[in-house]
Amino acid sequence: MGHNVVMKIELSKKLKGKQREAIRHALRIASHDHPAINDLKLLKIGALNKRDAELFGGFAYYKNNKGYIKLDRRDDVLTTIETFSHEITHIAQYARGDLRDTKYFTIWKECVKIPHFLIAFIPFGDVKYNPIYWYSAWEVEARKYSAKLLKEIENRDYNCGYRNLLAEGRRVRYWLCNSQ
Ligand SMILES: [Zn+2]
Repeated sequence: MGHNVVMKIELSKKLKGKQREAIRHALRIASHDHPAINDLKLLKIGALNKRDAELFGGFAYYKNNKGYIKLDRRDDVLTTIETFSHEITHIAQYARGDLRDTKYFTIWKECVKIPHFLIAFIPFGDVKYNPIYWYSAWEVEARKYSAKLLKEIENRDYNCGYRNLLAEGRRVRYWLCNSQ
């Protein structure tokens, strides 16, 4: 039904089969909600290495019209969808030209310019306590979109126990995005 994903996609086998299935499902919806991602030359989705998985919930990188996302292979299906929809929103922000990075700054819509070191600052062991990161326009949009997409999938009766899974204990999330 509806829209097709037109960009070239590479989905790593390092992610579990269930995760890859969930990502394809989420990508079909996201490519409609974030039309800019359809213009990507490539979208490469891989797994975080062990060290990075202790630091980040997910990772997004954009360069030369190509998007790169890394996810945690230990995540359950819904966490995978949550993180993927968050990271694909950052890729869309870069592709739209709303978000970009220079060597030292992250720039939003050519009007907000924040030094990287302030964004990466993790006070008290949880990035949620860094308001510069947490309330930045790009993070707010990414979190809103992942909540919207999870809700949509719940409404479509996607065959997984949404509420039960959400009730599971979660690790502290920390999302990182970068371009150049
Ligand atoms: Zn983010």
